Amino acid sequence: MIRLVGVGKTYEDGTVAVQELDLDVQRGELVVLVGPSGCGKSTTLKMINRLIEPTSGQIFIDGQDVTQADPVQLRRGIGYVIQQIGLFPHQKVIRNVMTVPLLYGESTATARERARELLDLVGLDAATYGDRYPHQLSGGQRQRVGVARALAANPPVLLMDEPFGAVDPVVRIRLQDEFLKIQRELGKSVVLVTHDIDEAVRMGDRVAVFETGGRLAQFGTPAQLLAH
Ligand code: ADP
Ligand code: ADP
Repeated sequence: MIRLVGVGKTYEDGTVAVQELDLDVQRGELVVLVGPSGCGKSTTLKMINRLIEPTSGQIFIDGQDVTQADPVQLRRGIGYVIQQIGLFPHQKVIRNVMTVPLLYGESTATARERARELLDLVGLDAATYGDRYPHQLSGGQRQRVGVARALAANPPVLLMDEPFGAVDPVVRIRLQDEFLKIQRELGKSVVLVTHDIDEAVRMGDRVAVFETGGRLAQFGTPAQLLAH
């Protein structure tokens, strides 16, 4: 579903963020990028949805060269979840989840119905929480809304940057488990970034271990990594 071939990124100021990166994500697979802060994980994620252009190499999604794709078209197929979820503070939860489908021309009634289903799917009762504003939710609840919003356009690919980073450890484990269930059910292809090795082993079908300097140290199943 996703393939990176010899991808590198050097920022304008000369910082080498990613080097010679080969990576693939199969359909329905969850691949975790893990490693210390500053090793190029977020840069890699942003190159996949073309928020950043690679300086070398190629990236394909579903066989299509990302650099040749229309960015708007490309991002329709990609849900992006980040830690600072950036919910619209002045819109109710339900509106936050409806935004993208409305943008793509769905009717208000259809978008609302879909948003309700998605809120239920991520464990937020739409009747209770749909009409609240983001600041009236706990951190974990806001993360759930972020996931629901990313799923709203029904993208085949989800890119997640520290999606569970902002919540306490107990809530985090619950969110991880719930998200895995949803991901399996919906068959999404996912790239998830974390600095937490436990999260990587817990969630990844395969785990890509980055080292400082933006190189891949290992890429394999959690069992293969733990055997090393
Ligand atoms: P990670 O997500 O693993 O913490 P990043 O991909 O954010 O790492 O960053 C990789 C490296 O690139 C770091 O050294 C970081 O300081 C640098 N970097 C990130 N963004 C920029 C930028 N816009 N300009 C210059 N250097 C950057
Ligand atoms: P957490 O332990 O996850 O940090 P909080 O203490 O923030 O949870 O919130 C606990 C409960 O209170 C949650 O159900 C949340 O929806 C609700 N809540 C938090 N802030 C507000 C608010 N400003 N108005 C209404 N309900 C709130």
